[in-house]
Amino acid sequence: MEISEIAADGENDHKQEAICIFGTGDFGRSLGMRLLMSGYPVIYGSRNPQNSTLIPSGAQVHTHADALKKSKIIFLAVHRENYDFLPALSNLLDGKILVDVSNNLKMNQYPESNAQYLSQLVPEAIVVKGFNTVSAWALQSGSLDANSQVFVCGDDNKSKQQVMDVARRLGLTPLDRGSLLAAKELENYPLQLFPMWRLPLIIASVLTVFFFFYTVVIDVIHPFVTKNSDVSYKLAISVPNRIFPNVSLILLSLVYLPGVIAAFIQLYRGTKYRRFPDWLDKWMLCRKQLGLVALAYAFLHVLYTYIIPTRFSVRWRWMHSMIEETKSTYSCLSKQNLFTIWG
Ligand code: NAP
Repeated sequence: MEISEIAADGENDHKQEAICIFGTGDFGRSLGMRLLMSGYPVIYGSRNPQNSTLIPSGAQVHTHADALKKSKIIFLAVHRENYDFLPALSNLLDGKILVDVSNNLKMNQYPESNAQYLSQLVPEAIVVKGFNTVSAWALQSGSLDANSQVFVCGDDNKSKQQVMDVARRLGLTPLDRGSLLAAKELENYPLQLFPMWRLPLIIASVLTVFFFFYTVVIDVIHPFVTKNSDVSYKLAISVPNRIFPNVSLILLSLVYLPGVIAAFIQLYRGTKYRRFPDWLDKWMLCRKQLGLVALAYAFLHVLYTYIIPTRFSVRWRWMHSMIEETKSTYSCLSKQNLFTIWG
């Protein structure tokens, strides 16, 4: 089915307000395609409406000023360095929602966030920050399962809600991050290396250290003190192989536990439309990473478990060859003795 047909179907089902996108680059096009598929009429604002290519079919392309007149929500898919065309449109932008999707190349590249800069540049518009953590590729390919969260912040609650509604209709999960002051954090977010891995890795490290000392005391130091037996060789294979499954199982339980706690909180509150406490939010957000670390530990457990019988088998073969050698030497000696006796 053509995107224009899907869009037409969507329009028939729920007549949606048109969405305007400034910029016909990678992000603008991908977002437009996704909006059309979700039933929104899309109007692009471009510097060169006549020469715009690769525009999703079903979308209109106009000049910035003309596109602005037809929509209340404008997604600004333009880099911060090019915002300077906006003050000239300030009359038309009065009271409209301007969604800043921009990212920077470096963390804290500018003293203020792009969204705050935009709200100073066009104070007539209501600036909402959002969608910057979703890539153009993910929007276009539809592979949003892994990163379907859209962080949104802004000073005007009603406008923020409207932008969050658009995100929901696109199949994304909007998360309210508060006022526009949070925009800097949202802009730094895509530049962070493994942002959700810190907590799972810290938990895994703490558990590993704890189980290491616990197992060393029980399996190595205790036999040495009570029976004077030196089993320090266990430190290489047996001790790690006791740590891995324990840490893996605890991490796995930490993947499922927040879901259960969240369900109880919802039952207690009698609604699922209130935000969870921050600690639970953070915990829920890193469940995937916790699960992956648990899987890594389980894999190590499998590996070490495989090493143990292999080690026994090597030892058995070595001892077997020793015994065979001893037996053959003994039988040779016995024959020689017999020869000596019989003369
Ligand atoms: P892009 O492909 O370079 O497109 C930028 C668009 O901005 C151009 O196509 C152009 O559209 C417009 N533009 C360029 N110079 C301009 C000027 N001087 N005045 C007015 N408009 C101008 O960039 P992009 O990848 O789409 O990114 C756009 C924004 O989305 C950026 O702020 C980026 O940080 C953000 N973002 C991108 C992604 C991604 O995956 N690409 C993800 C998240 C956020 P017209 O020729 O039609 O005017």
